[in-house]
Amino acid sequence: MCHDKNKNPDGNRASISYFGIPMSDNNAFFDDKKKEVAIRWLNRCLPNLKCECCGEGKWILSDNIVTMPNYTGGIVLGGNILPHIPLICSNCGNTKFFNAITMGVIKKGEDTNG
Ligand SMILES: [Zn+2]
Repeated sequence: MCHDKNKNPDGNRASISYFGIPMSDNNAFFDDKKKEVAIRWLNRCLPNLKCECCGEGKWILSDNIVTMPNYTGGIVLGGNILPHIPLICSNCGNTKFFNAITMGVIKKGEDTNG
């Protein structure tokens, strides 16, 4: 759990939005309610987030949660994964990946198939 770093009362905070593209059945898990959890976490933990590549502070939350397979000398399909939420700089496309469990979007052990 992050600490509230929003000590900047002048409103100079990062802007976070999401694409708003209609969701297919494949990504219905990351619905608007979960996106709001992610946006609240980002605004609370990283309220002044700037892109280290271009210096802008406008971000787009991905419509999908992505995963990274564990590396154990080879790729194992069906093994443990690390769910991440991409945050994309709207100016240059630099993409950051935040752990969806740390953000509170996914509870540890939650089945993401339904
Ligand atoms: Zn950028």
